[in-house]
Amino acid sequence: MHELSHRPGDRHRIAIGPGGVAVGDGDFLVIAGPCAVEPGDGLLRIASAIAGSGAGMLRGGAWKPRTSPHSFQGLGVEGLAPLVAAREATGLPVVTEVLDPRDVALVAGSVDMLQVGARNMSNGPLLREIARAGLPVLLKRGFGATVAELLDAADYLLAEGNEDVVLVERGIRTFETATRFTLDISAIPVLRERTHLPVLVDPSHPAGVARWVPDLARAAAAVGADGIMVEVHEVPDSALSDAGQALTTAAFDALVTSLDPILAAVGRRRSTVAAPVALELR
Ligand code: PEP
Ligand code: MN
Repeated sequence: MHELSHRPGDRHRIAIGPGGVAVGDGDFLVIAGPCAVEPGDGLLRIASAIAGSGAGMLRGGAWKPRTSPHSFQGLGVEGLAPLVAAREATGLPVVTEVLDPRDVALVAGSVDMLQVGARNMSNGPLLREIARAGLPVLLKRGFGATVAELLDAADYLLAEGNEDVVLVERGIRTFETATRFTLDISAIPVLRERTHLPVLVDPSHPAGVARWVPDLARAAAAVGADGIMVEVHEVPDSALSDAGQALTTAAFDALVTSLDPILAAVGRRRSTVAAPVALELR
């Protein structure tokens, strides 16, 4: 009955990473980056571009939960070093998904936040292990899960003593096939009523098509979400996963610019990171 995730009237604000980029209670967090960390130094260039556009945090999957075992599965442990390098160069805190409870401790040593993907939202043992790592957690809604089930999954994390949970609406499966999933925009006001936890929207996975992503992202800002997580790639057509939905860095820059007046209208400020720590020291 999602008792732990329900604290009426309270809004939980979370500070992520050494610079303490904020989410919740009026702070709108823009997380961006490629679906997967890919071979080469593309991640570093994407990270620099999105930092320049005003993103507050970098995402990139080292391990990818693919529907088909024949699709690119991610670089695995090799994907962690590029994330750390991009974090050092830009000052952006980093989030990546963990698929296996055995990898939690290793990954937690390299990143600032752990992601639970839609396909693992109901994986209790993984949730418990991730909660115990002591980092903030990004919990994505399963595409067949109700709002109540998402809150129950959040309770697994809270029950382990981890209060720093951010929920993500990323689209659910409906009879509609025009989009990859159906963004349940209604879930945002419902969740904000039922939980004190910050709620983000992932506009990329429901759209499935890059040109629809900015409209869904602006809807997220207008509806009262606490942030967005959006996929960005240097050359979307060549992305090794989710190529169709990745924004170019230029399209991402235009999106961020278009969000600011909407955020001002709904009384939120976009979270920013302090100047890159590593670059300041050089
Ligand atoms: C992702 O964030 O790239 C991802 C795999 O998302 P989801 O778990 O929502 O499908
Ligand atoms: Mn993806």
